[in-house]
Amino acid sequence: MNSQPGAAAEKIIVALDVPARTDAVRLVEKLRAHISTFKVGLQLYTAEGPDIVRAILDTGARVFLDLKLHDIPNTVAGAVEAASHLGVHMLTIHLSGGRAMIEAAVAARNESLTLLGVTVLTSIDQATLREAGVETELGQHVLRLAQLGVNAGVNGLVASPHEVKMLRATINPQIKLVVPGVRPSWAEAADQKRFMTPRDALHAGADYLVIGRPITGHHDPAKAVAQICGELVG
Ligand code: C5P
Repeated sequence: MNSQPGAAAEKIIVALDVPARTDAVRLVEKLRAHISTFKVGLQLYTAEGPDIVRAILDTGARVFLDLKLHDIPNTVAGAVEAASHLGVHMLTIHLSGGRAMIEAAVAARNESLTLLGVTVLTSIDQATLREAGVETELGQHVLRLAQLGVNAGVNGLVASPHEVKMLRATINPQIKLVVPGVRPSWAEAADQKRFMTPRDALHAGADYLVIGRPITGHHDPAKAVAQICGELVG
């Protein structure tokens, strides 16, 4: 791990899970000096559309567009192409969409877009998988989807903190592991049940940490980033 706080901040992607442009822009303004990548998810994108992505890109920051695409190959390819033109740096697709869909997405991305595959959402447990007819053990199912994604050409995977070690040991080291569900030691867990500290997640093999509320809900978001970086280098 790099011992510079600036390098530690490069590992942090801030999730802008806010309802409107004004909230998002305010957070980017407060954090831009420390954070270089912001995640725009379904809530903010549905409310504000590509304009909010352009506004963030205009600050010189990078955008991770977390739309978790899952549709027929042609439709997903079109969306990946549109995101590439928009200039986003990271985009998510669901690997359960199957090989043809993943390959169509990979073929549609431009060189500067990191395509990330989502395996099994952390909100899904073994019983939920079984309801959908999947009898495979959850960890095995995650691994199977991860391998499918990597073989079909994705650049990275979204992984829960508890899957990182297993994936890092199994998957090609070039593949980026992006890890949400991390909580600094001083933060409320909120609804994240199976969380890990940022430091432990990086030690387990995460390349990037996605952190939302511990930063965005803090009375001083820049201070929260500094505290997290302190934990990472300390
Ligand atoms: O506020 P918090 O740090 O819990 O935000 C985590 C972010 O990561 C949210 O944007 C959430 O949608 C995303 N995420 C997650 N768990 C997953 C996949 C994505 O928490 N399995």
